[in-house]
Formats: sequence, structure tokens, C-alpha cells
Amino acid sequence: MDLPYIEPYKIKMVEPIYRSTIEQRKEWIKAANYNLFNLKSDQVIIDLLTDSGTGAMSDRQWAEVMLGDESYAGSSSFEKLKTTVQRLTGYEYFIPTHQGRAAENVLFSATVKEGDVIPGNAHFDTTKGHIEFRKARAVDCTIDEAFDTTLIHPFKGNIDIAKLQDTIDAYGVERIPFVLITVTCNSAGGQPVSMANIKAVSELCGSYEIPVIFDSARFAENAYFIKTREEEYTDHSIKQIVHEMFSYGDGMTMSAKKDGLVNIGGFIALRSEEIYRSCITYNIMYEGFVTYGGMSGRDMGALAQGLMESTEYDYLESRIYQVQYLGERLVEMGIPVQQPFGGHAIYIDADRFVPNIPKEEYRAQSLAVELYITSGIRSVEIGTLLADRDPDTGLDRYPRLELVRLTIPRRVYSLSHMEYIAVAIKNVYDTRHEAEHGYQIRWEAPIMRHFTVELEKKG
Ligand SMILES: *Cc1c(COP(=O)(O)O)cnc(C)c1O
Repeated sequence: MDLPYIEPYKIKMVEPIYRSTIEQRKEWIKAANYNLFNLKSDQVIIDLLTDSGTGAMSDRQWAEVMLGDESYAGSSSFEKLKTTVQRLTGYEYFIPTHQGRAAENVLFSATVKEGDVIPGNAHFDTTKGHIEFRKARAVDCTIDEAFDTTLIHPFKGNIDIAKLQDTIDAYGVERIPFVLITVTCNSAGGQPVSMANIKAVSELCGSYEIPVIFDSARFAENAYFIKTREEEYTDHSIKQIVHEMFSYGDGMTMSAKKDGLVNIGGFIALRSEEIYRSCITYNIMYEGFVTYGGMSGRDMGALAQGLMESTEYDYLESRIYQVQYLGERLVEMGIPVQQPFGGHAIYIDADRFVPNIPKEEYRAQSLAVELYITSGIRSVEIGTLLADRDPDTGLDRYPRLELVRLTIPRRVYSLSHMEYIAVAIKNVYDTRHEAEHGYQIRWEAPIMRHFTVELEKKG
């Protein structure tokens, strides 16, 4: 008999989970105005709100916390982090920041101006925000296959080269400060980008001398998918793949709260001294001196170690295995989920799950609330509430996909937690016909309403 898969780590420190009752949760969610963002963490049994900053650090990372050098300038923790990033990416110039959007703010302050166009694969919300705030435009060149949830394609994060060429032709090289490749592509559901595609984008951009920048929050998970799905790379190590990926670009921004395996942190790494020089003034203004950029010495030490660990095959295999395990259990139980599964989350298709709830009553949110009440699992709506209202008509915008995201934190939960999640969802699925009504809005903010919206039951 084959031995079953086990996580390649054991537990040294535990954090208790309070196991609340259905009656308690009914009260709490009502008091939270049926908005899962308003719950306190101890009202949650399994927290799948996000994988950002929610991972568990290793004993070696905690050892680095104790070794942190808190010198204002030139700390050894900075040197350690810089050397690690240089080795992993091949980029010589390094700027620490307090998180990913801060890296975007600094780099874009130096490179993006009004009227510019930044082509890429489904830009992340803060990235798009920082582009549009500068009166520039983010153009999505993702392949069409990404928008069909039932279609199986190994690299749904890929950039369509013809769309990219058309964008360059339409706006002109002068208006394109860089092309942005997001690995893995979060907005498309954690879908990877292939090495062949990265190479093709790099070649096209090279012929116009347009720089290529990576939005790298989940670069290690992307490298794992290249190793396991792109034949040429089967025998490469993750670190070799990472180095090759970045060799086709000119720089990167990083949210270390994801594949950095830390709770806060970020950075910029660059090939060009010229861009680096124009960034550092902004870094000092917005983040802090160039050798800490909003992070403490201990944060930088823990991040250096986290980057080494997240680029180990064993870690990545367990990470992706856990997410896929949950996805496969749900498929076996007949639950409609997006496929192929992404690297950091499973997405439930709420339109197929609860079609009897009117779409005006927020299907995905209704499902997320029901899942919380029945099991204490906190998921997140990626649907109509998130999509906000049309600024011209003031009416709700119905996105192409009405989803509930189950985002898995790194190294936090075990396979038995995955089993609990799967069974909890199956139980909701078995009673789905009883749900006839969802929710209506009592109060909402004019933009990004999903964070603070107040809801009440309909019907
Ligand atoms: C999280 C994320 C960001 C922003 O990073 P923060 O650390 O949350 O500020 C940018 N891009 C991608 C792809 C992300 O996933």
C-alpha cells in the first residue's frame, strides 16, 4: 500500500481555536450586519478570508526575528535580505517597502505618468488603483481561455501575445513605461503563467525596448506550476526556475505577505541603476530609509529566510497539494468549483450552487453567510458586492462570475481542516433548495463597498 501524503513539517507552537455554536454565530453575524469582514477573529473557526499575511513562520524564521539588527542604516538584516533577493532573482538593485502596494507606489511614482498605458494579465486591484490614480491606464491582455471556468488550460494566467502587440500598436511605445506580468495571476483565480509565455512577452517587449516588470506576490507558486506542467522544466529546481523567470524581465514588485512567508513586508528589485536611483527618493519619502523601507530589522531577517523556504520544492508541493486536495474533495461531492484549481484558493461558483436565490439578493454573499453560520468558516465574496455599482447608472454591476473564494493560509491548517471545510460545504449544498432569499443592502460606501457594507435579510 502506498503511504499517504504528509505535510513536511511538524507543529511546535499551537494557537487554540474556539469552537462556537450555530446559535452564537447567528447572533454574531447579525450583529456584524451579515458582513464577514466585521467578525472578530475568535468568532471564526477556520479563516479563509485571505492568504495575505496569514501564514505561519518556521522555527528558523523566528530565530531570524531574534537576530534582527535594528540599526537605522546599513543593518545586517538588510544585507541578508538584499543578498537573498539578488541570488534568487538576479536583480542587482533592491529596495525594501512595508508591503506590496507600497512597492507599487514607489516604482510607479518613478515610472508612470498621466496618459501612460500598462498592458498586463488582469492587474491586481491595488496595482490597477496605483496606475489609475496617476491617470494612466491598465490594459488587460489575458488569454480568452481564462474567462471560461469550465475550460481546462494549464496556464490560464498567460498573456495573449496578439493582444499585447495590438496594444503596443494602438497606443505607441512612448506611452508604455513597462509591461506587467502578474505571477500567479490573482485576479484570474491564482492561475499560472508559463515560462514559454514569459519568454514570448520578453522577446516582443525587447524588440521595442519596453521593460518587463513582474508583480511577484506568488512567484514561487508560479514556479511550482512551471515545474509540474511544462515538460522542459520537470528536472529543474524551483530556484533555477525562479532565476530563469526573472531573467526575462527587468524588475519586480513583491508583496512578501504571500510567498515571502511573513506577516508583513514587501520590496522592489531592479536591473536598472537608473530606475533604482529615481525610486529611492520616493522610498525615503513614503516608506523609510533605503535600508529598511518600513520594515524592522527582524522583519527583514524573517523575510530572507521565508524566501529561501518558499522556493523549496517540498514546501510548495505541500502547499499546492493542500489546495488541490480541498478542490478534489469538493468536485467528488458534486460542488460546482472553478477549474483548474488555482495555487492559493478554491472558488465556488455561486450561480450554479444557489441559482434559486435571485441574483439581486447577492447569491455569493448569501452562500458565504450560510457557510459561516453552519460551520464557522469565513470565506469571501468575489461577486456583485465586490463589483460595486455602475458609476453612470448607479445600478448593481453583475460580474461574469459570482464566486465564493476559499483562500488557504500557508502552513496554518492541516488536511483534517480541509476535510471539515469540504463536509461543511457539502452540508450547505444538500440544503441549497431551501434557500429562496438572500440579502439586501441597508448601508453602503460609494466605492469598495464590500469591506463595510451593512446587509439585512430579504424575505
Ligand atoms: C497582495 C497583492 C498585491 C498588494 O500587496 P499588499 O502586500 O497587499 O499591499 C499586489 N499584487 C498582487 C498580485 C497581490 O496578490
